[in-house]
Amino acid sequence: MADVVEKAVRSRMMAAVRTRDTAPELLVRRFLHAAGFRFRLHVRDLPGCPDIVLPKYQSVIFVHGCFWHQHSGCPKARLPATNYDFWKAKLESNVVRDSSVRDLLLRQGWQVIVVWECSLRDPDQLDTLPSQIRSFVPK
Ligand SMILES: [Zn+2]
Repeated sequence: MADVVEKAVRSRMMAAVRTRDTAPELLVRRFLHAAGFRFRLHVRDLPGCPDIVLPKYQSVIFVHGCFWHQHSGCPKARLPATNYDFWKAKLESNVVRDSSVRDLLLRQGWQVIVVWECSLRDPDQLDTLPSQIRSFVPK
């Protein structure tokens, strides 16, 4: 019971943090599709419910918003001056969760690829994705 409640709270928190089918995510999906990749979306039975899962390559892709996931060194990740402490605590917990999700996936033998929202402004950035996906050799 407690577990169910915890799950509900957590999924509500997750929903607040990461919405599905964002423009950056759609861009990556369209690109991969055009490049001939087959993938699944929002796979709930994997840690962190990855945005894009490529089973053939044992790879998952997260398309991260720079603010919500605190892209290190990125101007878009700067905390607002208003309610600074609130945002700092909230966003730091996102970073901690991202990192534990990553560890879990790596331990299960997945390649974890993060595509940052800001990198998509340069369309050439996506061109490196196919070779990164294909180069992974599952352990
Ligand atoms: Zn960024």
